[in-house]
Amino acid sequence: MQAFLSELFILTVKVEKIKRNLCQLEELGLSCIGCCGFDFTNKKEVMEALDRNSDEFKDFYDNESIDLKGFRDRHPKDILRISGICYNLIWKDKERGLIFCPLHPMVIEGQNTGQKDLREGHCNPGHLCRIAYKFMKWSRDKQDRYVAFLKSKNLDWYEYSIKNDDGSLLDEFEQHKL
Ligand code: SF4
Ligand code: SF4
Repeated sequence: MQAFLSELFILTVKVEKIKRNLCQLEELGLSCIGCCGFDFTNKKEVMEALDRNSDEFKDFYDNESIDLKGFRDRHPKDILRISGICYNLIWKDKERGLIFCPLHPMVIEGQNTGQKDLREGHCNPGHLCRIAYKFMKWSRDKQDRYVAFLKSKNLDWYEYSIKNDDGSLLDEFEQHKL
C-alpha cells in the first residue's frame, strides 16, 4: 500500500510542480478540500470521514494496479459523507494534513485506465472557487504576496478549506490591499 501511494503522491506532486495552485499549495504544505463537498459539519467528523475513505481505498488496489473506477463507484454519485465531504477524498499524509482526490487525471493517466478524468460526470472538475481562479491569473509578484499573506495566517488544512470556499481569505486580502 505504502509503495503504491508513494507513486500516486509522486504523480500528484508532478501536478503541483507544473502549476502553482491553491488547491495543493505545496510551498506552505496546505491542501484544500473546500469545494469537495458541502456544509462540512466540523473538523473531527471530516477527519473521521477521511479515515474511512482512506481505509476503503485500500480495498481497490493490489501490487500491480488500482481500480480507481471501482473506488469511485463504490457509492452512488451525488451523495456525500454525513460530515459533508466527498467519498473520494483520501489522506495523502495525515500527519501533515495533506489530502487529495485519487480520481485526478494525472493519477488516472499514470494508472493507464484509458480514461482521462474519472471525475467527469461525477462532480464538476472544471470548477474553481473565486480565489483559485483569480490566483491563477495573477502575476507571480501578486501570487507571492498572497502566499505571504496565507503564511501569516498560519491556517490548518480545515480552516484553509473553509475560507477558500467561502471567499473570506480573498475578501480579507483585497480589503487590506495587501
Ligand atoms: S475551494 Fe478553491 S482552492 Fe479549494 S479545492 Fe476548491 S477550487 Fe481549489
Ligand atoms: S470526485 Fe474528487 S474532485 Fe470531485 S468532489 Fe470528489 S474529491 Fe473532489
